[in-house]
Amino acid sequence: MRKIDSVFRKPLEAALESAMAHLESLDRTSVAATVDIVTLRSRIGKELPDEGVASEQVVADLVKDVEGGILGSAGGRFFGWVIGGSVPAALAADWLTSAWDQNSGHHSCGPAAAVVEEITGKWLKEILELPAHASFALVTGCQMAHVTCLAAARHAILAKQGWDPEQQGLYGAPPIRIVTSDKRHETFDRAIRLLGLGLAQVEYLSANSEGQLPTDALERALKAEPSAPTIVLLQAGDVNTGKYDSFETLIPIAKHYKAWVHVDGAFGLWAAASARYRHLVRGAAEADSWATDGHKWLNVPYDCGYAFIADPDAHRASMSSHAAYLTHDGDARDQLDWTPEWSRRARAFPTYAALRQLGRSGVAALVERCCEHAHSLVIKIGRLPGVEVVSEPVVNQGLVRFLDPKPGASDTDHDRHTEEVISAILATGEAFFGGTTWLGRRAMRVSVSNWQTSEADVRRVVSAVAQVLAVKPVHS
Ligand SMILES: *Cc1c(COP(=O)(O)O)cnc(C)c1O
Repeated sequence: MRKIDSVFRKPLEAALESAMAHLESLDRTSVAATVDIVTLRSRIGKELPDEGVASEQVVADLVKDVEGGILGSAGGRFFGWVIGGSVPAALAADWLTSAWDQNSGHHSCGPAAAVVEEITGKWLKEILELPAHASFALVTGCQMAHVTCLAAARHAILAKQGWDPEQQGLYGAPPIRIVTSDKRHETFDRAIRLLGLGLAQVEYLSANSEGQLPTDALERALKAEPSAPTIVLLQAGDVNTGKYDSFETLIPIAKHYKAWVHVDGAFGLWAAASARYRHLVRGAAEADSWATDGHKWLNVPYDCGYAFIADPDAHRASMSSHAAYLTHDGDARDQLDWTPEWSRRARAFPTYAALRQLGRSGVAALVERCCEHAHSLVIKIGRLPGVEVVSEPVVNQGLVRFLDPKPGASDTDHDRHTEEVISAILATGEAFFGGTTWLGRRAMRVSVSNWQTSEADVRRVVSAVAQVLAVKPVHS
């Protein structure tokens, strides 16, 4: 008989010890990597063993070998990309997800996992203020949420033209026009590519200086070919400025031309959870599909994104691997009818746990806290000498630029100086920021999505940036 306790307890306890040590160290250690790729490769690149290694030894070696190569993104001083941490209940539920190891593709492979997912989808629609009748899918991230939503769009649009894309493919199909802004997220383009819709069909309209799609530009584009089957992509939260498209204005225009409206709300859709920020998504519920993430602002572990589709039949017809065109109301929900995956992780458990731990008020407070901290980081860093605020946050994203102090400095000098300052901040280990190009100029992104970021973190980070700026820069 296998002694379950003796085989599992040691590696799991080693993992718990190391996880706690990591989480507790986040306040003290560098938030950026402290070892280079050569070091990591030499440590991790062991010979594939002929004989196995004891499980607790495997865990111990892993922890030792990755040291210095794990970013502090689980903690409160990480402001790169749009990256959240994990609230405790979600992290714990994620561990259990692995221990239970359910194949969450089908109800019969994990009845509880399927029901938790049903309830999670319902809760998500409630907190995001999306229509209760919308169908949903839990996928790996917003990228695959786009793919899921747009597969449904492709089905619905072509079905109206008497074309069945699942059966007939796209050879000879009527083209679908796609209209969006030149500031849309790149994951949208990849979804278009994966679905065979073709980037050549995309009309990129110029966004305004805030990153929003202008009303007149959309109207003009749609009017040019009023009866072309069309998908319109709108954004709830530009990745650089956090600005929102005006759903109230744009969706009725798109609807007038019978377009399918898809909303990229990877982080921005979460404004709906807060009474203070809800106005930003006003009208968004009138869209046809919505893509967002759990692993960003909800602070569940990777990987977790959510797709919502107002027309469940189109959703199911595009994804279901049996009984297409039928929704089985009242029946068990088989996840594989709604996702592009077959066997899959029961990723609803951590989301369910996060929503229960936080509650409506906790999610609202998380959203509001991140927005406040992003705002004070941008304003306080912006007050330091030689710093320009490029975009003041409306939500949790903002931009600053570091001006080269030398007399007669050009934009190219400011670009280079901004890069140098970002690198110097990373080198202090006190904070992690990334760079971006906004309206042709380099800037530092300030992105706050972690539940742990506190006022003390903001003070500490601002003073670290001030110290970097106080050191006379060395020019190459
Ligand atoms: C992060 C992000 C995405 C992609 O989401 P993933 O979860 O990385 O797949 C898409 N759109 C926007 C606006 C984002 O911020």
